[in-house]
Amino acid sequence: MSDLPSDSFAARYATEGFGIAHLPYGSFSTSDSDTRLGVRIGEHVVALTDLVSRDSDLFPLVDQPNLDALLTSDRPTWDRLRADLQSVLSSAADAERIASAAHPLAEVALHMPFTVADYVDFYGNEFHAANVGRIFRPEQPPLLPNWKHLPVGYHGRAGTIVASGTDVRRPHGLRPEADGVPSYGPSRRLDIEAEMGFVLGSPVPDGRVPLSEADNHVFGLTLTNDWSARDIQAYEYVPLGPNLGKSFATSISPWITPLAALDAVRVAPPARDTPLADYLDDAAERPWSFDVTFEVVLNGDVVANPPFASTYWTAAQMLAHMTVNGASLRAGDFFAGGTISGPEKNQRGSFLELTWGGEEPVALSDGSSFTFLRDGDEVTLRAEAAAEDGSTIRFGECTGRIVESPTD
Ligand code: CA
Repeated sequence: MSDLPSDSFAARYATEGFGIAHLPYGSFSTSDSDTRLGVRIGEHVVALTDLVSRDSDLFPLVDQPNLDALLTSDRPTWDRLRADLQSVLSSAADAERIASAAHPLAEVALHMPFTVADYVDFYGNEFHAANVGRIFRPEQPPLLPNWKHLPVGYHGRAGTIVASGTDVRRPHGLRPEADGVPSYGPSRRLDIEAEMGFVLGSPVPDGRVPLSEADNHVFGLTLTNDWSARDIQAYEYVPLGPNLGKSFATSISPWITPLAALDAVRVAPPARDTPLADYLDDAAERPWSFDVTFEVVLNGDVVANPPFASTYWTAAQMLAHMTVNGASLRAGDFFAGGTISGPEKNQRGSFLELTWGGEEPVALSDGSSFTFLRDGDEVTLRAEAAAEDGSTIRFGECTGRIVESPTD
């Protein structure tokens, strides 16, 4: 905002990526307070109850520990709240009061920002799907025949979605062996999947959310790491798809970036080369991809820069698809768009692809040679986008560290 008063709270406390044009939501607590819903400016979080008037009809929706109540509401309400927050945070008159209510991030604990209802994980990126096809099924065409006709996905485990910073225990399971008899033990091929997650709200009990309605139901976006045990996955996935190889943990950033903050980076998805069913045909719809490039950081080394805009299927198409059969949309439903990969080797969003099934190790700055995750390894996802006012939006980081699984 060019007219932001220099003595407003937002002007004084904003940092690169976390200014008035962003305002991500999160759930936080301090040593002497209950868990509350807050909004981030710079390196501070402010409880929404300190920003929204008690007389406002919005107050009951924000006097909450997390986003759950707000997600039961609707797009006009979400937009009104965001406008109110931008107004008060831009006001010089309120600056001192807000400053005294703000909490440095270093002094708060962050929690899951919403209660996950259902979780669907899609497979919407053509580069990723084709790479995995070449690695897992080298004797067949990279894409299966249905891939360009619908966004392939599976129903994931909502209860194991965890907030960034939560340690990830190496999963146990059945691993394929050369003699055809699987062995049970800790995964030897533990991997990441760099994805964008979409938080849904404004319930639709009878489902069937058309492409044109997606803006009314996608509340916000969050960086998502869909940890994957490739050996367990490879043995179990035929014929019904991923199960235990994916369900042990999925990490999300504790900060939910509002959809409205990303207007400046909405771009058209890749050109479609296959005719689509009417409910998926987005030729005449508002663009639903986002020009956002990720950083995948392993123990401090940036090992990949996956470009989200390379994803073939859009979030609007995924939402239309997952509800077209009449499946309900509930507040807190969540889906991830699939591992993001681009055409270049350094744009691959998984170690399966970066190391080509473990055959091409990646050299790290500490001198080690890397294929799959080792105990103690830490992976962080970062991403940036341009904001409408010319500033930058930094998505909240998504971090997780691998810890040894319990012995059995
Ligand atoms: Ca995934």
